[in-house]
Amino acid sequence: MMIVGILGAGQLARMLALAAYPLGIKTRCLSFSDENPAKDVTQVDVCEEHDSEKITAFAKEVDVLTLETENIPLDFAKKIAALKPLYPSVETLAIAQDRLQEKQLFRSFNIQTAEFIAVETLEELTLAVKTLGFPCILKTRFYGYDGKGQVIINCAQDIALAFKQLGGGALILESFVPFEYEVSLIAARNLHGQIAFYPLTRNEHQNGILHISQAPYKHPLQETAQICVATLLAHLNYIGVFTVEFFVHNNTLIANECAPRVHNSGHWTIEGNDTSQFEQHIRAVCNLPLGSTKARGFSFMYNCIGQMPDREKILNIPGAHYHTYNKTPRLGRKVGHVTICGESKTDVLGLAKLINEA
Ligand code: AMP
Repeated sequence: MMIVGILGAGQLARMLALAAYPLGIKTRCLSFSDENPAKDVTQVDVCEEHDSEKITAFAKEVDVLTLETENIPLDFAKKIAALKPLYPSVETLAIAQDRLQEKQLFRSFNIQTAEFIAVETLEELTLAVKTLGFPCILKTRFYGYDGKGQVIINCAQDIALAFKQLGGGALILESFVPFEYEVSLIAARNLHGQIAFYPLTRNEHQNGILHISQAPYKHPLQETAQICVATLLAHLNYIGVFTVEFFVHNNTLIANECAPRVHNSGHWTIEGNDTSQFEQHIRAVCNLPLGSTKARGFSFMYNCIGQMPDREKILNIPGAHYHTYNKTPRLGRKVGHVTICGESKTDVLGLAKLINEA
């Protein structure tokens, strides 16, 4: 039986594992962490980051490697990629880890982004704020996720404070985009260069964390988004699922960031699409044909942050699907999600209101 090795053992690895088994494909995770939501459903090898012996042994046991987070040390990625094919590639990872390189890549293909300036010192930051104006957002270039590692600068007094808060170092200052809403496009590419696009998903964030996704978001910008993503996928010679998050402002797409993996805004595809993003990723990295990305009716995905809602109340909502990741509840932590699927958007949005009462 083919074995897909997954770097990381969080909820994304858990859902990848669940999608792989019906295809006759096994998964095995490698984790540097104590808490591993994937361990309920697949084998998880836990080791220290520098334990070359265990890492090599893991790589030997699997046929192909993939990951659930782009934030893994590049040195480690390089070492393991020398042992078995790793999708996404180390080159793609280097770009996706760095907000600066990511934006430079978008710009090199004429994909619009917020204005940005890389800064390292308080003097550089003060100058950059003068250029971009208020409000603007200071972000760490590396290891930022779920709104972590970013601070809004609204006035001159905020500058030094924001710099201190992020601890200096490699930073990027971005102009604030007064967007109307946010969307994401999830796509998959396999080894033959075949690409499948999901319909646009409309997303709402709270405190920088994804709160709600709705799909399909039928919109004339779908085609423009697909052209942007197809260009990036071909340039990166990308294999697997890939996501780009966009702001929509004045009916134009402004790319915010990309993720070289399955994405939280695609969880609705488990029940709301012919092929879930997790199955699609497994298909792509195992050199299998990609599946149909046709949406089944309308889906509303609600992220459970901090704690899970009452299971019984959720299961009483028609068309609702309850997903717990079996994680220790903690403030601001993604512990699960609920998807409601139905034929009509009006019905689904009506039922979605019941989630807040659960
Ligand atoms: P990020 O970590 O870059 O995905 O940012 C998390 C969220 O912060 C985004 O989804 C937006 O809601 C908001 N955000 C990030 N960058 C900007 C920006 N340049 N302008 C306006 N809002 C932003």
